[in-house]
Amino acid sequence: MAIRTILTDEDPVLHKVCKPVEKFDERLWQLLDDMADTLDKADGVGLAAPQVGVLRRVFIMDTGDGLKECINPTILETKGTQECVEGCLSSPGEYGLIVRSATVKLQAQNRKGKFFVVTLDGLAAECAEHESDHLDGIVFKDKVERMLSPEELNGN
Ligand code: ZN
Repeated sequence: MAIRTILTDEDPVLHKVCKPVEKFDERLWQLLDDMADTLDKADGVGLAAPQVGVLRRVFIMDTGDGLKECINPTILETKGTQECVEGCLSSPGEYGLIVRSATVKLQAQNRKGKFFVVTLDGLAAECAEHESDHLDGIVFKDKVERMLSPEELNGN
């Protein structure tokens, strides 16, 4: 296991579309293990493979109920909306207001290639949409209603 460097959003890698994972092998497991260490160290809730320079459709998230590894994820269904104050490990210290789905039904594969479906809401729904966007080269700043000023952030 190792900590990988998190790219910041001026890096062109973060604006490219990722390719599906085809091999569920040790190389993928190493990536997943490293991403878990990296997320833990950065104290974040989600991390997508392109953020560590790997253009594959992989993200991990932990919004408080354990680590989820999502490979080749697809959002099957969304319901409702929520307005979120959102940030990104690739944009340190920057936050914006963004509208996300309130509930997300997500299908993905686990590290062995087995399909699963989960229904997520609140922060987990926000995170799943944020990380799925990364796999299509979209960062939250592309979708944000507006960025929050340092004064607004300090005021809260
Ligand atoms: Zn992000």
